[in-house]
Formats: sequence, C-alpha cells, structure tokens
Amino acid sequence: MRRLKPPEDNVIEFRPRDPDDAFIKSKPYGERADRCWHRRAIVDPHNRTVECEACKAALDPFDYLMGIVHEGDRLTRLYAAIKQMNAELEALSNEERKLKQRVHAWRKKQGAKDAE
Ligand SMILES: [Zn+2]
Repeated sequence: MRRLKPPEDNVIEFRPRDPDDAFIKSKPYGERADRCWHRRAIVDPHNRTVECEACKAALDPFDYLMGIVHEGDRLTRLYAAIKQMNAELEALSNEERKLKQRVHAWRKKQGAKDAE
C-alpha cells in the first residue's frame, strides 16, 4: 500500500532561476526584510543563557522553550493528520481493489454471455 512519506521527504524546494531575472520583484520594506527569526539557538548551561546562532541576540529562555513547545504541538497535529490520511488512503485502496474485482468479475460474466 502507498504511504505518505514523512514531511521532510515531500518538501520540494522552489528556487528562482535568477533573482535579477524574476518577473515580479519584491521590494524590502523596513526592517522586516532583514529580520532574523532566531531559528537556531545556542544554549549556554553555565551562564543559563540562550543566544541566536545567526544574529547572536540574547533570547529569553522561557520564550524560546515555549516556541519549541508550540512547534512540537504543531508537529504532533501534523503527524495525526498524516496518520488519519493514511487510514483514509488505505480504506480507499481497499475499496478500489474490491471495485476492480467486481468489474473484472462482471466483464468475465459478460464475456461468457457473449460466447453463448
Ligand atoms: Zn536571530
């Protein structure tokens, strides 16, 4: 049976051919275009601090922990949705198999009638 792959295997990266050759160009506005989202952090257990790996900003440890918790919750919901979709896919595959068997049996029966 077909199974959905884990999300990281299903990701297709879209890259512009050449940013200068793009049909539509976006203009950076204010500081948002340069904003760091602090995706990766360095945890210093000695000083009990958390620092952004990219921009070296000091991060609030509790806020960073809450971000990890929210991301974990989001992933848990996504995996539950994948599990549900796999169950639906399996049910549909079973139904397809049964219908194909019925069509095959019907065609076989029609062929027998035509031969009479
Ligand atoms: Zn940062």
